[in-house]
Amino acid sequence: MPFRFSNFKSDYLISNDFGEWMVISRKNLEDLINKKLDTTSIFYRELKLNNFILGNSGSFGLENLASKLKTKKEFILDFSKLHIFCMTLRCNHSCIYCQVSRKSENSCTNKYDMSNEVLSKSIDIMLQMPSPSVTMEFQGGESLLAIEKVKKAVLLTNEKNEKIGKSITFVICTNMVGITVQTLEFFKEHNIQISTSLDGPEFLHNFNRNTSGGDSYIKVMKSFRLAKEILGNNCLSALMTTTRESLKYPKEIVDEYIKNGLTTIFIRELKWHS
Ligand code: SF4
Repeated sequence: MPFRFSNFKSDYLISNDFGEWMVISRKNLEDLINKKLDTTSIFYRELKLNNFILGNSGSFGLENLASKLKTKKEFILDFSKLHIFCMTLRCNHSCIYCQVSRKSENSCTNKYDMSNEVLSKSIDIMLQMPSPSVTMEFQGGESLLAIEKVKKAVLLTNEKNEKIGKSITFVICTNMVGITVQTLEFFKEHNIQISTSLDGPEFLHNFNRNTSGGDSYIKVMKSFRLAKEILGNNCLSALMTTTRESLKYPKEIVDEYIKNGLTTIFIRELKWHS
């Protein structure tokens, strides 16, 4: 079967369209390419298991693989279902792992918030997707700093969708600092899900997630309480970004989630960070 290969340390990484991969020696790679495999060897069996060769399974094996590939690529039929709207690049935090080009809270809104024109066109594109259901996710920066624009986006989407009739899930990613009763009531009215961040107990959360006052945790807890009052106990899902510092406190992190009535932890690992 077709496969790709590249150097991997002193060996070779081979991979195929079925999502399988193996690290093999140069000798094994040459044997595979030159079709000089020992059919009784473990290597031969592993290649077969990982769909690098069909062996003697003939057309039945091929049909199997075709169906596997079709399942893997099924998402293409629905095209893009998740649409991320970065409403602003401004943020009131400066987390040590921030990967966006964040700007300070008071930066120019004209420059760093999404314009009405871009917003309207982006909604049109989202609603043109073939999928009957889409997710509109607001991200930043900090979405709450552009809350009026978020509200506008939700109302405009619902209006444009009236004739189209897609099922739309709204999600807002926010650090929740400074959230107000009015905003939470808007979320309730429009069934907007909240995805937030809690990196662990106070000392760790504040270490990872800096604010000018160094008090992110206290502000977040205040917002958690308010959100639970208005939206109910299960209104939040939180993710925990794992830094080197976090690795020292696994038990404390889990305890913090339990303390706050969160039943799941979405663990976001960092692939880079010094
Ligand atoms: S809250 Fe998000 S956007 Fe703001 S600094 Fe932290 S990671 Fe970056």
